[in-house]
Amino acid sequence: MDKILYDATLPLHPGTILFPGDPAFELVNLFAREKGDSFELARIIMGTHAGTHVDAPKHFLDGGASVDEIPLGILVGAGAVVDLRGEPVIDEKRLEKIHWVDRILFKTDNGPLLSEGRFQDDFVSLTEGGAGVLIEKRVKLVGIDYPTIEKTSPSGGPVHRMLLQAGIVIVESVDLLEVPPGPYEILCLPLRIQGADGAPARVILRKGC
Ligand SMILES: [Zn+2]
Repeated sequence: MDKILYDATLPLHPGTILFPGDPAFELVNLFAREKGDSFELARIIMGTHAGTHVDAPKHFLDGGASVDEIPLGILVGAGAVVDLRGEPVIDEKRLEKIHWVDRILFKTDNGPLLSEGRFQDDFVSLTEGGAGVLIEKRVKLVGIDYPTIEKTSPSGGPVHRMLLQAGIVIVESVDLLEVPPGPYEILCLPLRIQGADGAPARVILRKGC
Protein backbone atom coordinates (compact mmCIF):
# COMPACT_ATOMS: atom_id res chain seq x y z
CA MET A 1 0.00 0.00 0.00
CA ASP A 2 1.25 3.43 -0.90
CA LYS A 3 2.10 5.73 1.93
CA ILE A 4 -0.02 8.86 1.94
CA LEU A 5 1.26 11.98 3.66
CA TYR A 6 -0.95 14.69 5.12
CA ASP A 7 0.45 18.02 6.24
CA ALA A 8 -1.50 19.08 9.35
CA THR A 9 0.51 22.29 9.74
CA LEU A 10 -1.03 25.76 9.45
CA PRO A 11 0.93 28.03 7.11
CA LEU A 12 2.63 30.85 9.04
CA HIS A 13 1.90 34.36 7.76
CA PRO A 14 0.88 37.69 9.33
CA GLY A 15 -2.81 36.62 9.32
CA THR A 16 -2.32 33.22 11.00
CA ILE A 17 -4.79 32.74 13.86
CA LEU A 18 -3.35 33.45 17.32
CA PHE A 19 -4.39 33.14 20.92
CA PRO A 20 -5.53 36.68 21.84
CA GLY A 21 -2.57 38.82 22.90
CA ASP A 22 0.13 36.61 21.36
CA PRO A 23 2.64 38.40 19.11
CA ALA A 24 1.78 38.35 15.40
CA PHE A 25 4.00 36.51 12.94
CA GLU A 26 6.28 38.74 10.87
CA LEU A 27 8.76 37.91 8.14
CA VAL A 28 11.03 40.90 7.65
CA ASN A 29 13.40 40.99 4.69
CA LEU A 30 16.87 42.11 5.75
CA PHE A 31 18.45 41.49 2.39
CA ALA A 32 16.50 41.41 -0.87
CA ARG A 33 17.53 41.10 -4.49
CA GLU A 34 15.04 43.81 -5.47
CA LYS A 35 17.00 46.19 -3.20
CA GLY A 36 20.23 45.29 -4.95
CA ASP A 37 21.44 42.62 -2.55
CA SER A 38 22.83 39.45 -4.09
CA PHE A 39 20.73 37.16 -1.85
CA GLU A 40 17.54 37.06 0.20
CA LEU A 41 17.54 36.73 3.99
CA ALA A 42 14.75 37.48 6.44
CA ARG A 43 14.25 37.82 10.16
CA ILE A 44 11.32 35.93 11.71
CA ILE A 45 9.39 37.54 14.54
CA MET A 46 6.86 35.31 16.26
CA GLY A 47 5.61 33.96 19.56
CA THR A 48 6.56 30.47 20.72
CA HIS A 49 2.88 29.47 20.27
CA ALA A 50 2.33 30.81 16.76
CA GLY A 51 0.55 28.58 14.27
CA THR A 52 0.73 24.82 14.77
CA HIS A 53 2.81 24.41 17.92
CA VAL A 54 3.76 22.26 20.89
CA ASP A 55 3.22 23.27 24.52
CA ALA A 56 6.11 22.08 26.69
CA PRO A 57 5.64 21.37 30.43
CA LYS A 58 7.54 24.63 31.13
CA HIS A 59 4.59 26.56 29.65
CA PHE A 60 2.64 26.03 32.91
CA LEU A 61 4.79 24.12 35.40
CA ASP A 62 7.61 25.35 37.64
CA GLY A 63 10.73 23.41 36.70
CA GLY A 64 8.92 21.77 33.77
CA ALA A 65 10.84 20.48 30.75
CA SER A 66 11.40 22.89 27.88
CA VAL A 67 10.41 22.04 24.34
CA ASP A 68 13.91 20.87 23.33
CA GLU A 69 13.79 18.32 26.16
CA ILE A 70 10.65 16.50 24.99
CA PRO A 71 11.72 13.00 23.85
CA LEU A 72 11.24 12.24 20.15
CA GLY A 73 9.65 8.95 21.24
CA ILE A 74 6.64 10.94 22.43
CA LEU A 75 6.47 13.19 19.37
CA VAL A 76 6.69 10.46 16.73
CA GLY A 77 4.72 7.23 16.53
CA ALA A 78 1.34 5.56 16.22
CA GLY A 79 -1.73 7.72 16.64
CA ALA A 80 -5.16 8.58 15.31
CA VAL A 81 -7.29 11.45 14.12
CA VAL A 82 -10.51 11.14 16.12
CA ASP A 83 -13.69 12.57 14.61
CA LEU A 84 -15.58 14.68 17.15
CA ARG A 85 -17.34 16.92 14.65
CA GLY A 86 -20.82 17.80 15.85
CA GLU A 87 -19.79 17.61 19.53
CA PRO A 88 -19.92 20.92 21.42
CA VAL A 89 -17.30 19.92 24.00
CA ILE A 90 -14.75 17.16 24.67
CA ASP A 91 -15.66 15.63 28.02
CA GLU A 92 -15.72 12.17 29.66
CA LYS A 93 -18.96 11.24 27.88
CA ARG A 94 -17.65 12.10 24.39
CA LEU A 95 -14.50 10.07 25.01
CA GLU A 96 -16.34 6.89 26.05
CA LYS A 97 -16.23 5.24 22.63
CA ILE A 98 -12.74 6.25 21.53
CA HIS A 99 -10.34 3.57 20.32
CA TRP A 100 -7.30 4.57 22.37
CA VAL A 101 -3.83 4.94 20.92
CA ASP A 102 -0.76 6.74 22.25
CA ARG A 103 -1.31 9.87 20.20
CA ILE A 104 -4.73 11.42 19.63
CA LEU A 105 -5.63 14.40 17.45
CA PHE A 106 -9.16 15.72 17.86
CA LYS A 107 -10.89 16.78 14.65
CA THR A 108 -13.72 19.07 15.74
CA ASP A 109 -16.03 21.77 14.42
CA ASN A 110 -13.15 24.19 15.11
CA GLY A 111 -11.59 23.16 11.78
CA PRO A 112 -13.21 25.82 9.56
CA LEU A 113 -12.57 28.54 12.22
CA LEU A 114 -8.84 27.83 12.21
CA SER A 115 -8.15 29.14 8.72
CA GLU A 116 -10.35 32.24 9.24
CA GLY A 117 -7.59 33.89 11.25
CA ARG A 118 -9.80 35.43 13.92
CA PHE A 119 -9.94 33.87 17.40
CA GLN A 120 -13.50 33.20 18.58
CA ASP A 121 -14.37 32.47 22.20
CA ASP A 122 -16.97 29.91 21.20
CA PHE A 123 -14.87 26.89 20.24
CA VAL A 124 -14.76 23.18 21.06
CA SER A 125 -12.43 22.54 24.00
CA LEU A 126 -11.29 19.76 26.34
CA THR A 127 -12.77 19.76 29.85
CA GLU A 128 -10.96 18.76 33.06
CA GLY A 129 -13.03 15.56 33.05
CA GLY A 130 -11.88 14.82 29.50
CA ALA A 131 -8.26 15.49 30.45
CA GLY A 132 -8.69 13.00 33.32
CA VAL A 133 -9.68 10.30 30.84
CA LEU A 134 -6.62 11.00 28.63
CA ILE A 135 -4.40 10.65 31.71
CA GLU A 136 -6.13 7.42 32.77
CA LYS A 137 -5.64 6.01 29.25
CA ARG A 138 -1.94 6.97 29.36
CA VAL A 139 -2.07 8.97 26.15
CA LYS A 140 1.34 10.47 25.24
CA LEU A 141 0.32 13.31 22.97
CA VAL A 142 -2.95 15.14 22.38
CA GLY A 143 -3.73 17.66 19.68
CA ILE A 144 -6.62 19.93 18.81
CA ASP A 145 -7.61 22.06 15.83
CA TYR A 146 -7.57 25.38 17.70
CA PRO A 147 -4.91 27.73 19.20
CA THR A 148 -5.71 26.45 22.69
CA ILE A 149 -7.08 23.16 24.03
CA GLU A 150 -9.14 24.70 26.83
CA LYS A 151 -11.45 27.60 27.51
CA THR A 152 -9.81 30.45 29.40
CA SER A 153 -10.53 30.00 33.09
CA PRO A 154 -9.91 32.14 36.16
CA SER A 155 -7.92 29.29 37.72
CA GLY A 156 -5.28 29.64 35.01
CA GLY A 157 -5.18 26.67 32.68
CA PRO A 158 -6.30 23.67 34.76
CA VAL A 159 -6.53 21.38 31.70
CA HIS A 160 -3.04 22.38 30.49
CA ARG A 161 -1.65 21.78 33.99
CA MET A 162 -3.29 18.36 34.32
CA LEU A 163 -2.01 17.17 30.94
CA LEU A 164 1.51 18.61 31.24
CA GLN A 165 1.87 17.32 34.82
CA ALA A 166 1.02 13.84 33.52
CA GLY A 167 3.71 14.14 30.81
CA ILE A 168 1.22 14.48 27.97
CA VAL A 169 2.47 16.72 25.17
CA ILE A 170 -0.11 19.23 23.88
CA VAL A 171 -0.23 20.22 20.21
CA GLU A 172 -2.43 23.15 19.23
CA SER A 173 -3.70 24.67 15.96
CA VAL A 174 -3.35 21.32 14.19
CA ASP A 175 -4.97 21.71 10.77
CA LEU A 176 -7.11 18.62 10.22
CA LEU A 177 -9.64 20.08 7.78
CA GLU A 178 -8.42 17.95 4.86
CA VAL A 179 -7.40 14.93 6.96
CA PRO A 180 -9.81 11.97 7.10
CA PRO A 181 -10.26 10.47 10.60
CA GLY A 182 -8.46 7.19 11.25
CA PRO A 183 -5.13 5.71 12.30
CA TYR A 184 -1.86 7.37 11.28
CA GLU A 185 1.78 7.49 12.10
CA ILE A 186 2.14 10.97 13.59
CA LEU A 187 5.30 13.01 13.21
CA CYS A 188 5.13 16.14 15.34
CA LEU A 189 8.38 18.06 15.08
CA PRO A 190 8.72 21.24 17.16
CA LEU A 191 11.76 23.44 16.49
CA ARG A 192 14.55 22.58 18.91
CA ILE A 193 14.62 25.94 20.67
CA GLN A 194 16.66 25.63 23.83
CA GLY A 195 14.81 26.49 27.02
CA ALA A 196 11.57 27.46 25.26
CA ASP A 197 8.10 26.94 26.75
CA GLY A 198 6.80 25.88 23.34
CA ALA A 199 7.71 25.97 19.68
CA PRO A 200 6.13 25.96 16.24
CA ALA A 201 5.95 22.44 14.86
CA ARG A 202 5.57 20.70 11.53
CA VAL A 203 2.91 18.04 12.01
CA ILE A 204 2.81 15.30 9.38
CA LEU A 205 0.45 12.33 9.33
CA ARG A 206 1.42 9.19 7.44
CA LYS A 207 -1.17 6.65 6.38
CA GLY A 208 -0.67 3.08 5.29
CA CYS A 209 2.62 2.12 6.84
ZN1 LIG B 1 0.11 26.73 23.27
